Amino acid sequence: MAKEIKNQAMESIISLAKRRGFIYQGSEVYGGLSGTWDYGPLGVTLKRNIMNLWWRHFVESRDDMYGVDAAILMNQKVWKASGHVDTFVDPLCEDTVNHRRFRTDHVLKDNGIDPDGMTMEQMDAAIIENGIKSVDGNPLSSSRTFNMMFKTNVGATFDENSVSYLRPETAQGIFTNYKNVVDNFYPDLPFGIAQQGKAFRNEISPRDFVFRSREFEQMEIEYFVRPEKWEEAFDELLAETHLFLESLGLPKEAIHELDVPAEDRAHYSKKTIDIEFDYPIGKEELMGIAYRTDFDLGNIQRDSGRNMEYTIKGTNEKFIPHVIEPSFGVERALMAVLTSSYREDEVNGEKRVYLQLPEHLAPVKYAVSPLLKNKPELVAKAREVYSLLKKKHGAVMWDDNGNIGKRYRRQDEIGTPYCVVVDFDSLEDDSVTVRNRDTTEQTRIAISQL
Ligand code: ATP
Repeated sequence: MAKEIKNQAMESIISLAKRRGFIYQGSEVYGGLSGTWDYGPLGVTLKRNIMNLWWRHFVESRDDMYGVDAAILMNQKVWKASGHVDTFVDPLCEDTVNHRRFRTDHVLKDNGIDPDGMTMEQMDAAIIENGIKSVDGNPLSSSRTFNMMFKTNVGATFDENSVSYLRPETAQGIFTNYKNVVDNFYPDLPFGIAQQGKAFRNEISPRDFVFRSREFEQMEIEYFVRPEKWEEAFDELLAETHLFLESLGLPKEAIHELDVPAEDRAHYSKKTIDIEFDYPIGKEELMGIAYRTDFDLGNIQRDSGRNMEYTIKGTNEKFIPHVIEPSFGVERALMAVLTSSYREDEVNGEKRVYLQLPEHLAPVKYAVSPLLKNKPELVAKAREVYSLLKKKHGAVMWDDNGNIGKRYRRQDEIGTPYCVVVDFDSLEDDSVTVRNRDTTEQTRIAISQL
């Protein structure tokens, strides 16, 4: 029952996202492409607001962060050195009758068995012991590993040397630019390099709306430290992460830290804390912070033959810095924002749906309308107010469709904090009615005070 209610909550959010121009299924006109999503006019603004807030929080407001924007396609040596060619895999099993493929750990999870810490053989054994079948009721095959990188060829020759991959994480574009930033900017340790951008993973079973997609966006930092100072930096970035999540308006009680046990950590990590969030689909990973040691720079030094050591200024002390990596998924942050701001209440005996978005994230800050759209004098005055607000705030919408009640409902659903209405009194006293999204209260305010 609880799961049903949760799924209903998810369905309501997906439906609102589509109905109001936030998120559409990718390639929908052709029947869609699984695991891809397109952002509509409001979705792209909400996503940008989240990404810009992150950039301000972690990059612009600090002296120790440098931004980069690396190419998505990289030399195949990057992915060999990083371990992704050999180990970026998920366990895959198959319905033995219709050959549908599933992620084995997800099959277990869906059947109430915690797969954390299990080897692939243990997962297969658990499937047999518990008589688990595929969702179509057929026996499942034993598992094999499946590499999640999208492979492609660069250039006109299709041989092993032209192989490249769509990057599965933005991190490697940071590591390969570490030396450039050090040589150009001489940063003192500790310092970080940040990047936002697309990442691609050929997920076996993309699901749960944008939560698990095949194309998504990451916001990552590689923070370079003296090896003995890693814990201090880890704690500082963890604290900053909590502050950032607070600025997204996420409720504290829905945020949980999971100290990931060694057997479940990525191949490069000595310590990982996952930040989990109570989504309607359950408690799931929103982002993670990992201590990557000198794994990546060490690999680059070994495979490229280029020296990745950092020299402490004015001394001969040289070493490969260690790295703390906070890694955020934009879609998972966005889904947390959407699900935690979704509200239903009753106004004048009618059900109302609204998004209680923090003002700084709302895609539209003000909606401006004339009380009646067929009265030229009201329209002219409302246009004046609209231009004034647009100059100041940018994110202002002109909305004269339907009656006022309908406009309020529409703006509530997209999370617009204030609706401004110009009426006949406005022509006399230069004031307008401002209606508050959360309280639905209407206040009379002078245009000059807006
Ligand atoms: P999961 O265990 O859920 O597959 P992960 O541990 O593999 O995630 P990381 O490799 O740590 O994820 O990636 C860093 C972040 O990128 C994640 O915390 C998440 O926010 C985001 N992310 C990873 N995979 C996806 C995906 N398929 N769709 C959307 N976001 C993703």
